[in-house]
Parts: sequence; C-alpha cells; structure tokens
Amino acid sequence: MQSCNRCKRKFTFKQVLRSCFHGYKPIQCDRCDQIYDVTLGSRLRVSVTIAAAMFPAFYVYKGPIYGHVLIYLLILILVLPFLMRYKQRIEDGDI
Ligand SMILES: [Zn+2]
Repeated sequence: MQSCNRCKRKFTFKQVLRSCFHGYKPIQCDRCDQIYDVTLGSRLRVSVTIAAAMFPAFYVYKGPIYGHVLIYLLILILVLPFLMRYKQRIEDGDI
C-alpha cells in the first residue's frame, strides 16, 4: 500500500477501498491532511482487471454462476486496493 510523501504514513486498506468504490475519491492523509488524487493509470488498471475478471465468468464458464460471482467479487475487492496509485495534490499555497 502506498504511503504519504510528506509524513510517510501508510494509507490503510479501508481508505483505499473506500476511495475506489466512491468513484475514485481523493484520499486525505490522516496525519498531515495532504490530499492525494487517483492517477489515470490506476483507473485503467482497475478497469482492465475488472474486464479481465468478468470475461471468463460470462463467456467461458457455462454452469450456475452465483457462487462464482461472489468469489470473483471477493477476490476483486481484495486485489483492487493494491492496483491503486495516488499522486500528491499540489495546493496553491505549496508553490
Ligand atoms: Zn501525511
């Protein structure tokens, strides 16, 4: 998990997951209040991962899929925060 550039505090799994499921909401560091925005690369990685995970579910596997969808979702939820990268937001006052 990425950490804050200023104070080196690590972002928590929960913070990153919440950011991910709220439309790539920016993360604010708990300790120094620095704001971090999701990078475009992260959004692409997440989209590709979800598409890649859904492909076998709909096109390859032909049996009842309910249980498998739940397992997929669980794996996705566990993996997504590790694909996310954030860049420090530069405020006007910092320059
Ligand atoms: Zn910080």
